[in-house]
Amino acid sequence: MASVEDLPGVGSASAKRLAGLGIDYVDDLIAHLPVRYLRYEEARPLGRVQIGEEVTVRVTVGRIGVRPTRQRRLRIVEATISDATGAAVAIWFNQEYLVRTIQPGGELLLRGVLEPGRPPKFKVKTHEILGDGGPSTGLHTQGLVPVYPATEAVPARRIRELLDAVRPATADAVEALPTWIRRRLALPHAGDAFTAMHVPRTTRDPRQGRRRLVLEELIVMQLGLGALRRQEALGRPAPKLDGDGELRRSVLERLPFTLTAEQDRVADEIARDLRRDRPMRRLLQGEVGSGKTVVAALAMCQAVEAGRQAALLVPTETLAEQHLRTLDELFAPTGLSPVLMTGKVSKAERERRRLALRTGTASIAVGTQALLSEADAFHRLGLVVVDEQHRFGVEQRQLLADRASDAGDDLAAHLLYMTATPIPRTLAITAYGDLQVSTIRGRPPGRSPVETVWVREAQREGAYDRVRAELRAGRQAYVICPLVDAGAVAQARAATEEADRLREGPFAAFTVGLAHGAQKSDEKREAMARFASGQTDVLVATTVVEVGIDVPNATVIIIEGADRFGIAQLHQLRGRVGRGIEPGMCMLFGEPTSDDGVRRLEALTQTTDGFRLAELDLDLRGEGTVLGTRQSGATDLRYARLARDRRELAQARQIARRTLRDDPRLTRPEHALLRAAVQERFHDIPRLLDA
Ligand code: ADP
Ligand code: MG
Repeated sequence: MASVEDLPGVGSASAKRLAGLGIDYVDDLIAHLPVRYLRYEEARPLGRVQIGEEVTVRVTVGRIGVRPTRQRRLRIVEATISDATGAAVAIWFNQEYLVRTIQPGGELLLRGVLEPGRPPKFKVKTHEILGDGGPSTGLHTQGLVPVYPATEAVPARRIRELLDAVRPATADAVEALPTWIRRRLALPHAGDAFTAMHVPRTTRDPRQGRRRLVLEELIVMQLGLGALRRQEALGRPAPKLDGDGELRRSVLERLPFTLTAEQDRVADEIARDLRRDRPMRRLLQGEVGSGKTVVAALAMCQAVEAGRQAALLVPTETLAEQHLRTLDELFAPTGLSPVLMTGKVSKAERERRRLALRTGTASIAVGTQALLSEADAFHRLGLVVVDEQHRFGVEQRQLLADRASDAGDDLAAHLLYMTATPIPRTLAITAYGDLQVSTIRGRPPGRSPVETVWVREAQREGAYDRVRAELRAGRQAYVICPLVDAGAVAQARAATEEADRLREGPFAAFTVGLAHGAQKSDEKREAMARFASGQTDVLVATTVVEVGIDVPNATVIIIEGADRFGIAQLHQLRGRVGRGIEPGMCMLFGEPTSDDGVRRLEALTQTTDGFRLAELDLDLRGEGTVLGTRQSGATDLRYARLARDRRELAQARQIARRTLRDDPRLTRPEHALLRAAVQERFHDIPRLLDA
């Protein structure tokens, strides 16, 4: 594959800057699509331009020079310009180098506004120098001009020029779709689609080009998911988990509450799956606080009753420890005692626990990633539960499914995934096409609502008054620091400064703790523990508290720079309060600079329904944020936006189903490139198309 460094005028420094935009190869460049287009008309005769009009003109340069001004920082470049119909003086601000690059007598295309004067002045917004075999004429100033995602180091202008240089390669883009699919969906050739995006002649071009790219992407994804389903259907059977129900009953009897109808329903769905000899692949979704843990605990009981082991996998140590406490409590009447497996457990202790799992004296394990590497240690693993599963990718899930297998009798384990980030149905069937979905709607009765307010800067002091009133009443508060782009260290520094500011100012009468990602894990844990036990009144934290901290006495959460967070993350953070009897309050501090930012904050104040928020998030920002922090993987989409492309999704599913029915391994010659595309996208799942 050709690297961008092979292009004329691209050195290693410039290649590095392009890599910052995810552009390493020429193919990446071609796949770097415009976000919108500027609609410029063709060049106009200078003599016919009205004062105040923004236009493009094609002119010859007379004299050019720098005009001194009184202001030291202001340098004005002036050039006399003319065409057959008129003359003017073109002006640029602070671009002295132009005196060297623009030659008297040369031809220019200028985009700008004509202002009154004698001769009139032409204030230049963009220009291009014509002639000398450079980029195509009018690239930046005429017709439909593409605007690309860009950086300061690599402006859109540069991207336009690079793409201009690779036009032949663009037109020759690999065609992965067989003719029958292209005919059926009336799709242009891949090369034509890319050309239509980068060099559109009409406003319809980009739309048709995009549709083609979206469909190809969705078809490839649906083929992969379809193959995954097939692989599992043909794969090893699972143990039937049908014991006597004794453990389940004793847990249920001793619960301090009764299950809600929703919990009952999903627990039944899961129990039924577990009794089958096909491996369960089920996603349990329900909001923060909806009571998923007890449902998972019941499933684990069912595994143990049938003489099997169960494992609970979570993304963080804090969460692992918290789950262990919860399970210990739930399992108290059964005598079951789960073991903890995290990176922190000492070697000797780990060896001891490993032995307990291998011999079967321990029947339940709770752990982080560390647990994944212990998978061989299980004696008779029957069920794996993955909490906060959106933090793990399709590939890891698959890995787990393999690891989870029981070496002794070659059975596959059942898998239950849980997520508190609700996934809209459209997305669930696409991204998780290989999973069944169970949903707990709402929360258990008696939980207090969380009031959410958007606090503008002018109301900050008033907001602190309300927080102090809560603190004086013996309750606690979180303060979440804004996201900082500059990395973990800068983030930590910002959090430390905020804690100091609050200690000296608004919360001087209270104790303020601090937890952030750059702390050692002990230090962080201690800070959280002090807050949990009520020793600190206020916890200043970065998003480390997003999952896994449960302090019912905390009733207020302040989120600074709330407009910088995604909807899903704000909703998760808000879930930290309202966990006790006292009503919770969420204060979103933020001055959004975009309409989307305003819409996000308004949405949070208007609804606490995670599913409605998720749909809205999908509409506003695309699936990247909805799916959480993972950004690369088989189900990440480059071109498609599911909220917008629902029709294409339906078409892609239909095509994929048909293709796999006729050619399940994609071995026909006309499917060869499609097969390669599926394998590339799902490269972490070996032999996907070999079954
Ligand atoms: P999540 O779905 O976020 O994992 P949890 O399982 O942690 O939620 O449950 C949140 C809290 O609600 C826990 O303290 C749990 O004991 C409690 N809970 C769960 N189910 C019920 C119920 N049916 N009635 C009352 N409280 C419940
Ligand atoms: Mg939970």
